[in-house]
Amino acid sequence: MSSRRVNPMPPLPAGYQVLAEAFGDRVYARVGPDGSVECPVCGAGAPADPRADDTFVMHCSSCHTWLVVADYQPEEGWAGFAPVELLSLASTAYFLPRAWNPSGPWIARVDFAARYDNYCKERDSTCLELRLKTFRSAASVTQGPTSR
Ligand SMILES: [Zn+2]
Repeated sequence: MSSRRVNPMPPLPAGYQVLAEAFGDRVYARVGPDGSVECPVCGAGAPADPRADDTFVMHCSSCHTWLVVADYQPEEGWAGFAPVELLSLASTAYFLPRAWNPSGPWIARVDFAARYDNYCKERDSTCLELRLKTFRSAASVTQGPTSR
């Protein structure tokens, strides 16, 4: 059995502007010229420090939150966080002034959780459709004429 894995290409630098305004596996916070991240919990600027494994952790002294930065791009001005990571915090709202957030700059935890839940359902059904298409095209190949 061969399973084909498609490795997503890293976003192009210009793509971050678009990516940051979209809701997905990452939600983005602004990074200032000094490298500080706009804390998605309270909105204050917070430093992001590298860890031994080349990832970054944001630690906000205003709200005392530590968060793994899933995608730290200070040159592009953005820091991506996993929605699951944000939802693991005991916060009732998040500071995420992005295009996907019509109630911005804040979004209530329940709304954020619902949005992520919808996103996962859509993504997973898309993944299922792709898997079915791949399965069907693989099946049509094996049913085709054999020329050996
Ligand atoms: Zn904070």
